Amino acid sequence: MHDPSKSRRLFLAGGAAGLGAAIAGGRAAAQADRGQIPTGPVGRPEPKLEEEPPLPLDRQLGWAVVGLGDYAQGYVLPALARARRSRAVALVSGNPEKAKRVAARYGVGENALYGYDTMGRLAGNDAVGVVYIVTANATHAELTVKAFEAGKHVFCEKPMANSPAECQRMIDAAKAAGRKLMIAYRAHWEPHNLRAKAILDSGALGQVWFASSDHHRPLDPSLPRDQWRMKRDVAGGGSLVDIGIYSLNGLQWFLGESPNAVAATMQAPPGDPRFAEVENVFSAELAFPSGRRATISSGYTASKKRIDLWGDRLVATLDPATAYQGNRLVVSNAKKAEEILTEETSAAQFTGEIDHFSQAVTEGTEVRTPGEMGLRDMRLIEALYRAARERRWLDLNPDMTVREA
Ligand code: NDP
Repeated sequence: MHDPSKSRRLFLAGGAAGLGAAIAGGRAAAQADRGQIPTGPVGRPEPKLEEEPPLPLDRQLGWAVVGLGDYAQGYVLPALARARRSRAVALVSGNPEKAKRVAARYGVGENALYGYDTMGRLAGNDAVGVVYIVTANATHAELTVKAFEAGKHVFCEKPMANSPAECQRMIDAAKAAGRKLMIAYRAHWEPHNLRAKAILDSGALGQVWFASSDHHRPLDPSLPRDQWRMKRDVAGGGSLVDIGIYSLNGLQWFLGESPNAVAATMQAPPGDPRFAEVENVFSAELAFPSGRRATISSGYTASKKRIDLWGDRLVATLDPATAYQGNRLVVSNAKKAEEILTEETSAAQFTGEIDHFSQAVTEGTEVRTPGEMGLRDMRLIEALYRAARERRWLDLNPDMTVREA
């Protein structure tokens, strides 16, 4: 039975001790303030941290990572380990031995390992709030639907899926489950990209009538991660869906509008086995309702990840724009060039997107890059492939479907 007089006595005793400690601490602090560093062991005030500390473990949202490939192990799991609001608590893999090794590395219990065929059992694991799909593109839709059926929220890698119909299926499954769906467009949390967007929106670049973006990287058939990217039915396309999507998503974000007409060409060098099924270079011109124009290019042979915003006062150049680390922002005109935000902070993008989703789930707020954005981009990609095949300009509706003549 609770005895209020007892708790008052305890409080008073504790209060007295606390007061003594406070006085001692205050004396030490006063000494230090006067430049006298105390020689004995004393407590000191809270240090000012550069980053907010993580939430207590029991308040962090549990994530299940699905697919333990290159990106999941190189970036996703390390980011979950650094995140403030999120942590890995389960893994899904088609390779149980690999899953056990990865689980040991990240402190995930062996009872929280699943196969693709046993993902339904996630429904019984209350520690899992979010499922992160990091598998080959063709599997995103099916695994997302499974995760929603298990009652979880879903964070899915780009490209969202291999067709608009698959994207719609994922969005419908989220609605049916009453759960959130977010697409991992990490540049929206990358500090240099955020600064470039702020500079553009401030008007400092002047009138931006033109923007361009180029994403190229060599496809290496000796790497498992690139082998499925050579297969059309698994990857959904070539360089455009894999990395050109950064140009498309980024330019729409920066300009705050989506194109209303597109023209495109694509190329696959004959005789190169890497490009028997998917394109190497894809290039396109985008016309926007405001009258702005943009060009994009993507490719699987060169190396470049760049965005330029061509204002009539200044040009903002992100080069690299969407690398994992070391992105750079330079603002220039014919006379001067200034590099902005020079410290190495790009790693913030991985934890930023993950913690954004955990916060949206726990606090019921909107997500910045929802499934509808993934669907929009997939419709635009479908229109671009069609424009390239038909070798003509295509008009687009506001939802990025092709306006039939
Ligand atoms: P990997 O090939 O390295 O990993 C893919 C993993 O998916 C495999 O290891 C496997 O996991 C699982 N998988 C399930 N089904 C298949 C299948 N049919 N074929 C191949 N793998 C399958 O690829 P990445 O890690 O490079 O890419 C994974 C996803 O992440 C892609 O959607 C990609 O677009 C995206 N990505 C995003 C990046 C970003 O910056 N946001 C960067 C790189 C990739 P297991 O062996 O455990 O079963």
